[in-house]
Amino acid sequence: MSEFSVTVVRLDALSDRQIQHIAATITTKLLELKVIALNNRFNELWQPSAWMVGAEFGSVVVDVPWADSVQATANSGVDITTTREVHHPAGNDEEPRCRQCRASAPTDYTTFYDDWVQIWLDESTEPVFTCTCGWDAPIGDWEGEFSVAVGAPAITFHNWPDLTPDFLHELQRLLGGRTAVVRTHL
Ligand SMILES: [Zn+2]
Repeated sequence: MSEFSVTVVRLDALSDRQIQHIAATITTKLLELKVIALNNRFNELWQPSAWMVGAEFGSVVVDVPWADSVQATANSGVDITTTREVHHPAGNDEEPRCRQCRASAPTDYTTFYDDWVQIWLDESTEPVFTCTCGWDAPIGDWEGEFSVAVGAPAITFHNWPDLTPDFLHELQRLLGGRTAVVRTHL
């Protein structure tokens, strides 16, 4: 079965204490809204996340016919991670685009992909790329939701219908600072 997930992640390098604080605030908020609930049916193969679909999750997803079946779907939980990690789009992977001319990221992005991702993770140094049009920016500021991102905290929704734009914006607001959305397809 195809697996989809969407992750919203804070890109800025933060202290562990800041990361824990933000993650705790978001967890409390999502529990209050009943978007998530404590996963009381934890199962490594079936429901491996700490959090599961909450009773009011329908208020934050787009209205699709199969939305109600999410609760009965394997791996339909939510992870709230506090360790800086590489969030990879897997099968969805594509280069982000220039915000000025919409061109794809330059060849250096692809050629040195493994190197700059590792440096971003190990040294908290977000790479800066320059477009052929002259525009340059840290990679997290390029446009796209199908490209790799490194950071924490991160909230990942596994196999949920699309989150509403309002809810995505709210998550980004709660994370604060610079954020990225990564849509993964395994
Ligand atoms: Zn450009």
